[in-house]
Amino acid sequence: MGEIAEMMLDGTLCESCGSFIDGDSPGFPRLCNDCKPRKRKPKKSVKAILINPFKKSVSMIDLQKDENEISLEHCYYLLDCDLVEFVYLKGNKILVVDEEGLLKANKPFKFERAGQEYFVGKALIVQENQQTPTDLNEQELPYIEKRISFPTIEQIKEELDAKRM
Ligand SMILES: [Zn+2]
Repeated sequence: MGEIAEMMLDGTLCESCGSFIDGDSPGFPRLCNDCKPRKRKPKKSVKAILINPFKKSVSMIDLQKDENEISLEHCYYLLDCDLVEFVYLKGNKILVVDEEGLLKANKPFKFERAGQEYFVGKALIVQENQQTPTDLNEQELPYIEKRISFPTIEQIKEELDAKRM
């Protein structure tokens, strides 16, 4: 038997790619770290939109996924909150908002596409396709951006009063 084949059999070299492992020869074939199948699938992400009323910005971001769901932990991190609420919009889009936003003296924004127009705090817009989060098309950003504004609490009150009259 060749020396290399022998070293693969005793585990000195990776049995798949033949690279040197760690200097050990355990006496059975094994794989190097590069050839070992990954235990966990690497976390994937989807393109989503972050609405930030503090910076008055609307931008594309990478939102992490856990299996076939968006990562709630990443939502909490991005929105800087402990609880989120999903508001289902037309076009298979979900607005993820800080559920406790209204309790905090926070920054509002107005989104003309949603049934309820006013929201408070940072928010995400996530695209779904058959109940699975998917990349939001970057070309939709200007369209969505046009429908989001950052009024002050006073402006919102005025607007609501005007509607009542
Ligand atoms: Zn290998």
